[in-house]
Amino acid sequence: MRSSEIECSEGSDHEVPLRESCGVFGVYAPGRGVAQLTFDGLYALQHRGQESAGMAVSDGEGITVVKEMGLVTTVFDERTLSCLPGHLAIGHTRYSTTGDSNWRNAQPMYRSVGGAGFALGHNGNLTNTAELAEQAGMLPGMVASDSDLVAELLARHCPAVPLNESPGADGQNGQKASDGLASSAGVGEGAFDEALESALRSVLPLIGGAFSFVLLDSNHLMGVRDPNGLRPLCLGRLAPTGHPGGTGHPEGWVLASESPALDVVGASFVRELEPGELVVIDSFGVRSERVFAEERIDPRLCIFEFVYFARPDAHLYGREVHGARRRMGKMLAAQAPVDADMVMGVPESGVPAAEGYARASGIPHGQGLVKNRYIGRTFITPGQDARDAGVRRKLNPLRENIAGKRLVVVDDSIVRGTTQRAVVRMLREAGATEVHLRLASPPLVWPCFYGIDIPDRDELVAANASMSELESFLGADSLAYLSLENLVRAIDAPGAGFCTACLNGEYPVPVPVEVEVGAVRRHDVPAAPARA
Ligand code: SF4
Repeated sequence: MRSSEIECSEGSDHEVPLRESCGVFGVYAPGRGVAQLTFDGLYALQHRGQESAGMAVSDGEGITVVKEMGLVTTVFDERTLSCLPGHLAIGHTRYSTTGDSNWRNAQPMYRSVGGAGFALGHNGNLTNTAELAEQAGMLPGMVASDSDLVAELLARHCPAVPLNESPGADGQNGQKASDGLASSAGVGEGAFDEALESALRSVLPLIGGAFSFVLLDSNHLMGVRDPNGLRPLCLGRLAPTGHPGGTGHPEGWVLASESPALDVVGASFVRELEPGELVVIDSFGVRSERVFAEERIDPRLCIFEFVYFARPDAHLYGREVHGARRRMGKMLAAQAPVDADMVMGVPESGVPAAEGYARASGIPHGQGLVKNRYIGRTFITPGQDARDAGVRRKLNPLRENIAGKRLVVVDDSIVRGTTQRAVVRMLREAGATEVHLRLASPPLVWPCFYGIDIPDRDELVAANASMSELESFLGADSLAYLSLENLVRAIDAPGAGFCTACLNGEYPVPVPVEVEVGAVRRHDVPAAPARA
């Protein structure tokens, strides 16, 4: 293919290269303002999903769900939070990879079961949704997403609690009111005890793909990670406060997609949940259980959590993400050296790797681009001119730092290449004499079925062009990627397993071609390797 034949497909979004599917949070903390804690936790996880936000709060008498389209700060304010008393809560921020972006698909999902109820938040993407729905006899349209399906299956497996066993039952279970509130009827502790746990034991072994769930019923907080641990989930502890018998708070517990959400609520990091682990948290503390067959346990955390998705201050596999990104840059400098005057990162996720590259190469590190801090989601605009305008809206060059210099420009990854192409052009216009692009990960060449929105394969620029064609398309003097081997080495978590499917086509969980993620075509799917 000649470089002139590499085209940016109309409608591609240069502004947001990859999107995480969701962030989840849960807290069990009697005596503390759990709604406020959940708000703070979700705010720390906002980067994992910006389409909708929600929380479910239980006071032991009933569960109240508030969810709306928009950012965490749009959905919740002081007044809303003050109306949500309780001792446990779960929260969710969503970006849709299956199901439409609408209120019905906003989470937490709520189900009433007789006089009781539960709520669920999901990060990930199931791979056998259609099969499960068919087996359960669900007609098309009965469930709106894979998360909705899991909630429905759990509800069907929960023994119903008669309404007359539910103090405060008012017949309004799960009904959405015009202000976005849904409430369950109350249920006394004991009536629904263990029903959800027992339903989880039945349903979880049936589902495939990527899932980190948080769930609650009236008195229990639960967290689950899929047997591959594809999406992260960690446990934190809120230390007791005050004196025994005084006015302090007892010990509390927190679940979160990423550890910075523990930090903001004052919880200390305890550990990551193990792949395939279910934890149940209640007044007796934390119980752990394995609910999957041993042969399904195969740790494969998404490697892109380290490259791009997770916050730099997050800890995964016992490693701080920022340090791993710096080591990626260091490895890249050794793997793809170049004679230059300045190393700069593409803000913000390319910056730690640029620092690592600079330190290892001895080339000074500098800032070449300023990012507009307030940029949010922007329109998906067709045409190269519009795409360039979109990048200019987000990034602006520091001309005095750039003019007359040979630059090493470090970015985290390449998807469609439209951002890098516009950046190279912008830097040259600002006076750079050479631009050498360095990517801190191998190129994306396969779609993701596990909860990350990666475009069609024919939009993945590296899947359709040689290196020299790409250099020419991007307008760079040279181009190099960090190898997969060096990426894993840079993360420096010996023995840890990773999903690398979008980089090398090796899918840890078989993916049926019928999976509908809206961005995958039948011919795109490589044969799934046999499971060990
Ligand atoms: Fe992550 Fe890629 Fe695997 Fe998806 S396919 S889970 S983005 S490593």
